[in-house]
Amino acid sequence: MPALSHRITTLNGDGSDGWDVFYRARAMIDAGTPVTELTIGEHDIRTDPSILKAMYESAVGGHTGYAIVPGISALRDEVAARVEAQSGVPTRRENVLITPGGQAGLFAAHMAVCGPGDVALYIDPYYATYPGVVRSAGAVPRAVPTRSSQGFLPQRDVLEAASDGAVSLLINTPNNPTGAVYPRDTLEGIADVVTERDMWLISDEVYDTQVWEGAHLSPRALPGMAERTLVIGSMSKSHAMTGSRIGWIVGPEEVITCLVDLATNTTYGVPGYIQDAALFGLRAGAELEAQVAAPFLRRRAIAERVLAGQQAVRMIPAQGAMYVMLDVRATGMSGEEFAFALLDAHHIAVMPGESFGQSAAGHVRVAKTLEDSRFEAALRTLCAFAAGLAQAA
Ligand code: PMP
Repeated sequence: MPALSHRITTLNGDGSDGWDVFYRARAMIDAGTPVTELTIGEHDIRTDPSILKAMYESAVGGHTGYAIVPGISALRDEVAARVEAQSGVPTRRENVLITPGGQAGLFAAHMAVCGPGDVALYIDPYYATYPGVVRSAGAVPRAVPTRSSQGFLPQRDVLEAASDGAVSLLINTPNNPTGAVYPRDTLEGIADVVTERDMWLISDEVYDTQVWEGAHLSPRALPGMAERTLVIGSMSKSHAMTGSRIGWIVGPEEVITCLVDLATNTTYGVPGYIQDAALFGLRAGAELEAQVAAPFLRRRAIAERVLAGQQAVRMIPAQGAMYVMLDVRATGMSGEEFAFALLDAHHIAVMPGESFGQSAAGHVRVAKTLEDSRFEAALRTLCAFAAGLAQAA
């Protein structure tokens, strides 16, 4: 067979892509072993039946042909109104491209602002696909490290030191995997650096409805930032619509116009009945969003209660999103060793911190995606297991 492109064979960088624990858990499940699954960010509820009804009615009503590539006008208007209400930044239909999920938005945003070989920054720990997204767009990923002891918030001096020659910075607040919600001063520091260096800011805000302390602040709302910020949004987390593949990019009109060309040549838009369902979901308002987010807030309280006073495991304070990060360094193990050992000993699957970058080494990420009492029991087992290891260490 002829050679594959360098771009495609190097998407995952070198070494493991960090999903080994996940795949072992899946293999155990396939072999009939019950596993307590706390790995990926998938709600334990399904898409609300009212949204599915809207989807069905749209499809039966004939909205199954090619949909207009930038997205149906009513949905673009609704997204624009939502973003404007939340951020105070004037936003119109022309600032919005509807995408097949946030993931496609992340790719498109990097395609828009990075040329071949350009350096694109992202904050470590990061959502596992970030370096691959950058490579998919032909650019070169560069991680900006953070520290567990500083709540995994990016520090201005570290960001400045990493910025030489970079064209873009990707941030994510509320953050997966850390649960950090960036405070205003962190975002202002980021805005200063990207402005001084004339860089683009790509702001992944797919968890914007899952904020447990304070409020979500979009960097696009900071002075002068709307012209250099691309916001990635999604219905996956806010409306439990992960499988429907629907999200958006909000940015300057010139960028969106170019991205419509990209979409025409790649995705060719999003199915009309999915867009109608999304429109229904957004119009259903904050109550439905709060209902979808509520279990994660409840389970955060459970995690805080279970983890209080633990010596071998420390919980990183989580102000948002659907995960908790646990520092397991006192066990003497890496995050990956701990995750494999926990899976083997207790059939509980969590993600090693190392899957999300070197800054999360010695941590594990626990998805709060299990019914409350089982979630609590799994955390108690994890803590007891860690305590035993720490004593032996
Ligand atoms: N960004 C972050 C931080 C995520 O955690 C995810 C999904 N886990 C995505 C983007 C992509 O989500 P989707 O494509 O389903 O919108």
